[in-house]
Amino acid sequence: MSANKAPVMHGTQARRLTQSVRVGNIIIGGTSPVVIQSMTNTDTEDDFATSMQVAQLARAGSEIVRITVNTREAARAVPKIRERLVAMGQDIPLVGDFHFNGHKLLSEVPECAEALSKFRINPGNVGKGASRDEQFAQLIEIACRFDKPIRIGVNWGSLDQSLLARVMDENAGRAQPRNATEIMREAMVTSAIESAEKAVSIGLPSNRIVLSCKVSGVQDLIAIYRELAGRGPYALHLGLTEAGMGSKGIVASTAAMAVLLQEGIGDTIRVSLTPEPNGDRTREVIVAQEMLQTMGLRAFTPLVAACPGCGRTTSTYFQELAQDIQSYVRERMPVWKIERLGVENMSLAVMGCVVNGPGESKQANIGISLPGTGEAPVAPVYVDGERVTTLRGENIAGEFRQIIDAYVMNKYPARI
Ligand code: SF4
Repeated sequence: MSANKAPVMHGTQARRLTQSVRVGNIIIGGTSPVVIQSMTNTDTEDDFATSMQVAQLARAGSEIVRITVNTREAARAVPKIRERLVAMGQDIPLVGDFHFNGHKLLSEVPECAEALSKFRINPGNVGKGASRDEQFAQLIEIACRFDKPIRIGVNWGSLDQSLLARVMDENAGRAQPRNATEIMREAMVTSAIESAEKAVSIGLPSNRIVLSCKVSGVQDLIAIYRELAGRGPYALHLGLTEAGMGSKGIVASTAAMAVLLQEGIGDTIRVSLTPEPNGDRTREVIVAQEMLQTMGLRAFTPLVAACPGCGRTTSTYFQELAQDIQSYVRERMPVWKIERLGVENMSLAVMGCVVNGPGESKQANIGISLPGTGEAPVAPVYVDGERVTTLRGENIAGEFRQIIDAYVMNKYPARI
């Protein structure tokens, strides 16, 4: 049974059934809801800063957090990070991200292996030549010894070059050789599958393996994961790597992942946004939640529908109200979700004028239709399709919040 606490909604298409992989207190794959992951950008050696950011990501809704483990000091910091999180009441699974020296770090600092819930291994960065297989085997043996799952995380930027050369050689012998894009995609998939098979042959059960093949191109990601999904029962981690900053990163990630999720492909996701300097790292978690919620796959927090505004509104009041209400709901959710069953499914609407305002407001659990230019300065409020009151004056926002609070208390039963 899934250990995930988040509610599941029915998607538009059945999820492709993969093997369930337990990662700490979370299940990835099988019939579990799509899991949201994120990654810290603090120096892991700074155990205080890293644990604070992990806790912040967890509070925002990240269900698994990955941390870089690149030095012995970073490996030694991992148990301290774990302890600090436990002291804060956070039992979120931590994933160690290993490149080049993971075999050494995990051997030399076994407490690090113990404190982590999963190891991420990049097959392109495990080692070169003869040492590659040995170091990979060492990593897998440690995973077996500590009873930990792994993610085989292939990345286009660090694809195993010897494997790429082999795939190119094989292609040259074909009657109809593939083009360079197809070769790259095939090499990515082959790297993931062959690494997983190698891990199984060393002794790691296949239900302790998650696969990912990250690229930065939308069409490449879609093609690669369609192929990967047909090659085995492994749980899949989706993400567009190097997605970029701001709206470009959000649009590219959503365009790629939404297509795959719609096809039932993907058991866990990360939205890899580049934050603005000193920007909020939790943005990637909120975008991931909004992606899953707007697709109808999961529900996390009530979302506010708002019209875009047009020439029928001459003030910014309705945009301000929509923003105010969305922020208010996000602020209240940590308490509501502990106390009230199903509150995450509540829908709200803030509309700018009489054209679509009443209609859209009636569709939401609670909707308000503000007056457009030239309309009487009144704002009818609808609750579950019925007009219940009309707000006017200076305190429309405050009164609308009170209506929301009362609705939550009356509509959603207290959790026992
Ligand atoms: S509801 Fe009114 S203000 Fe909003 S976009 Fe439609 S016509 Fe414009």
